[in-house]
Order: sequence, then structure tokens, then C-alpha cells
Amino acid sequence: MKYIFKTTTAIIFLLALFNMPGISGAAEAQKPANTRVKQSKEEALTPGGQYKRHDMERPRPPVRDPGPPSEKEFAKPPADAVVLFDGRDLSRWERKPGTKDADKSPEPKWKIENGYIEIVPKSGSITTKDKFGDCQIHIEWATPEKVDPEMKGQKRGNSGVFLPGHNEIQVLDSYQNDTYPDGQAAAIYGQYPPLVNVCRKPGEWQSYDITLEQPRFDEKHKLTHPCRITVIHNGITVQDHVELGGGATEGTLGLQDHTNPVRYRNIWIRKLNSGKE
Ligand code: MG
Repeated sequence: MKYIFKTTTAIIFLLALFNMPGISGAAEAQKPANTRVKQSKEEALTPGGQYKRHDMERPRPPVRDPGPPSEKEFAKPPADAVVLFDGRDLSRWERKPGTKDADKSPEPKWKIENGYIEIVPKSGSITTKDKFGDCQIHIEWATPEKVDPEMKGQKRGNSGVFLPGHNEIQVLDSYQNDTYPDGQAAAIYGQYPPLVNVCRKPGEWQSYDITLEQPRFDEKHKLTHPCRITVIHNGITVQDHVELGGGATEGTLGLQDHTNPVRYRNIWIRKLNSGKE
């Protein structure tokens, strides 16, 4: 069991590195002191050991129609939420540390218009200035409406939500766009495909509601409680209390620039105390 945890944490670390356009930025997100993460040269199998990372032989999650969004899905933030983007400014964000020239020019370069932000390709990923532990995250996103048929798989509407201290929840145009299942929309990137594919059409607004329970470590840095992640995509549960073996107990929330002009709006977070020691 101990061996499995060690192997899993090493895999998580490596996966986070290799999914990033800028490796140095990913390392920054994964280096908090209170982790047991170690690198390994072992072959990366996804949790459960059946499939290799990005295995195209892996079964595709069934496609389901989430239906039109309800009013609740795109509701205003609750009163106790920390509003990270309300349609007007990115004052709570900065360019991801480690991104080229981010130290000299930390202000995000992404476009703000009509109540949303739009990624300016190659301007770099962004992160919150604040760190978060246990939390509930709401975020709305839309991939570009105009689809270039030459851009397939990971090249179509790719971005991502980097959870505080952990891996990426993939943002991708997964509407009639095949890719490896552990890299489609709402996957825990490189590990867990979503239970179902409920992606809306390109250009339509979609939502993620994510609950993150951070791991706990004892005084010897031994994991006592795994990280747990639940993701609701367009009102449908697609990741259900998924356990990850390591990571950090807190970190910044990040949004990925993967060179596609994906849009985001109505981003908020609620701090939780999940009642663990
Ligand atoms: Mg991505």
C-alpha cells in the first residue's frame, strides 16, 4: 500500500510537469514543502494500472447531453465566496511565476471584454495571487465557436484549471472531438477520464463546480488522508470523490494558456474546512 502511494505521487508529479507548455511554471505549482512527492523513472500507468498514460485504447466515456444550462448553473457567487473574476478585472491574478518575463511584467495579458476573459495565446498561464486549501470552485468556460477542422484532439480549445497544489482539470473542446480519454474535457489530466462526456458545443458556455479536499500529512510527512476531488461538469457529476495519493495541502488556482483563445467568466471559490485534523 505504501509502495502504491509512493508510486502514485511520483506519477502525479511527472504528469503535471509534462502537461505544461512551460515546465518551470508547473514546477512552481508543485513544489510546496509539505509534500512527499519524489520523481521516479518507472513507467507511468494511470491509477489502477490498466492503462498507460494517454492510452488511445482506453474506452471512451459515454456521451450524454447535459441539456441547456439552468439559471442555477450560471448563478451569481454565494455571499461567502471569494470572487476571483467578476467580469471586470484580473486584480486577483498574475502571470504564472516562471513564465517568460513574468517577474518584470506580472500583470496578466489576457483580454477582458463583455464580462469574460479570453486567453491571448502564448502570453502565458495565470494564477491567483492567493493560495487555497480545501475549497469549492466554480468556473465557467467556452472554447472558440469557430472550429478549424485541421485542429483536432488536444489542439482544439485546450486550456485547463490547475487545482491548488494539484493536477489539471482539463478544459478542451470534447464535442465530437476524439482524444485520449485521460486528456478530454473534465479529465483529471493524465489519470482519470470523466465518467461521462457532457461537453457542450464549441462557443457555448459550460461550467465546472469542483470540490477539493486537500491531503493531510502527519508530522513525519506521511500521508494520513488522501486528496479527494469531485467535479460537476454542466450540472453532471463526472469525477466522484476521486482520491489522489499526494500533492500539496494548499496552492494557487491556475488557468492554462495552451495557445487556444478559450474564454472564462464568473470564477469564484469558497474556502472549506473539511473537518479533518
Ligand atoms: Mg489543458
